Amino acid sequence: MGDRSEGHEGRRTIVVIGGVAGGAGAAAKARRTDEHAEIVVFERGPHVSFANCGLPMYVGGEIARRDDLLLQTPESFWRRFRIRVHVRHEVVRIDRAGRRVEVRDLTSGATFWQGYTALVLAPGAGAIVPPWPGLPAPNVFTVKTVPDSDAIRAWIAERSPRRAVVVGAGFIGLETAEALQRRGLHVTIVEALPQVAPTFDADVAVLIERHLREQGVDVITGDAITRLEGGTAVEAVALASGKLIPTDLVVVSVGVRPELKLARDAGLAIGAAGGIAVDDRQRTSDPSIFAAGDATEVTHLVTGAKVRLPMAGPANKQGRVAGCNAAGGDMRFPGVYGTAIVEVLGLVAARTGLSAREAAAAGLAFDVSYTHSLDHAGYYPGAEMMHLKLVVERGTARLLGAQVVGERGVDKRIDVLATALAAGMKVTDLENLDLAYAPQFSSAKDPVVMAGFVAANVARGEIATVTCAELRGRVADGADLQLVDVRTPAEFATGHLPGARSVPIDELRDRLGELDPARPTVVYCKVGFRGYLAARLLQQSGFGAVENLSGGLLVCQE
Ligand code: FAD
Repeated sequence: MGDRSEGHEGRRTIVVIGGVAGGAGAAAKARRTDEHAEIVVFERGPHVSFANCGLPMYVGGEIARRDDLLLQTPESFWRRFRIRVHVRHEVVRIDRAGRRVEVRDLTSGATFWQGYTALVLAPGAGAIVPPWPGLPAPNVFTVKTVPDSDAIRAWIAERSPRRAVVVGAGFIGLETAEALQRRGLHVTIVEALPQVAPTFDADVAVLIERHLREQGVDVITGDAITRLEGGTAVEAVALASGKLIPTDLVVVSVGVRPELKLARDAGLAIGAAGGIAVDDRQRTSDPSIFAAGDATEVTHLVTGAKVRLPMAGPANKQGRVAGCNAAGGDMRFPGVYGTAIVEVLGLVAARTGLSAREAAAAGLAFDVSYTHSLDHAGYYPGAEMMHLKLVVERGTARLLGAQVVGERGVDKRIDVLATALAAGMKVTDLENLDLAYAPQFSSAKDPVVMAGFVAANVARGEIATVTCAELRGRVADGADLQLVDVRTPAEFATGHLPGARSVPIDELRDRLGELDPARPTVVYCKVGFRGYLAARLLQQSGFGAVENLSGGLLVCQE
């Protein structure tokens, strides 16, 4: 076994484990911080600094050239940074007392020691594959590395499969479903939880699920795979419900598990959220070891809680901070808001901050508001509906989180909202944001401003709202409610809430006598706007308790 422990006199040696988002960023920042340090990166896989976020698009063919995924090579790292990158080299042990790591060259099988002054751990997280009966099988894949994606592409090219099952409806599952459909396969998504896109609230996820079905994807929620059936390859997946889904290909995207073995074996502290514990300088419980990326925990900046949020943005920023500090600099990474975006078959869904479910779990008192606005002026061609849900702290009107779904302009709105969140803004600030407007880009009342109007109306107590779930709960409890549908009779005829009376908004003033002002009243329409008008009208006409169904029927369907 060789020994590469000896550094040069007075020269810092920085060793980085993992050479993708966090690791590559750490190494490059370390160089910019200390031009004279020796910097060595060990990467277990065949590629350094590859674009894992682009893998589903490579499977789908939108990214046609494999080389476009390979952002750097060991040679380019050496040329630009004088950083030694060793691919197919796995770090198998950290000797903290000796300040060295044991490395296995996966090509030759030889091991050697490499000494360090500072160590950066960026080993990421591995794709979880449950131990289903029927594994291993040649047509069951994950989408984590370039070779994974090559394997899917090769199977499609060689076997011309017709059907695919994607297990898990998180971001990668959704993107993979699109990729496979683009390749001409009929896709079934199987999700064990009761909804797709589980990081969104159920009433927002329903919009995504509806879109998937409209686009021809079969969606099965609330059902889990129990085994894989077939001969030399999987031919069907069996579900807990007893259903058997025939398939020619399975892609598993049920989440990732942080790579903790090295850290655990070395006795580094693992946090309660299940990631390597680090401070805001990305320092682990050992002051000469730093960590970054999917293997670590981060602070959620709305709740202050430690969470794991395996995303590329935080991994890159953490890597930069870890690399700087490992090289003697002083940078901090405060935490994350959990901002994320996904596109599936033309629909874009994005979120930042807390969902209503997360706000409830954090014990916060909050209100939600929904708005459905066009992404730009309706009279300019191509305007599409955008759905926006805000989560707002009750009492302070502070924005806690936002979810946006639509076909265009979602990225811009979520980034405005993420910035508002970082600035600690209230919804009463949102309604006065001075955002850019011309008809092709937005409306004079931008969807974010519109959401601010509605949420601020609630925060100021101008209008009381009820969510669909609250309304259902009250009806189930037998509450005495006067339910008024203020849509047109034609809309009412297409379906309405049980027990509702139809009084279209334009007739409401003349038909007030048909309603009882003493009874608690809930008004509703399709999206919440006519309901809002009706609620204001009734409130000023002697009705004591009036609520508008937040977001209307659009977010209140089974
Ligand atoms: P990784 O990028 O996973 O890198 C860790 C590396 O460490 C691996 O290459 C591994 O081989 C290596 N390693 C592990 N252990 C050792 C060892 N002992 N010795 C040597 N090397 C080791 N995030 C977004 O924000 N937006 C997206 O659109 C998005 N899309 C994604 C799509 C896909 C298909 C995937 C898989 C991920 C996506 N992500 C996305 C998540 C994002 O890619 C990760 O959060 C990010 O790459 C994490 O960076 P990391 O450096 O912590 O880990």
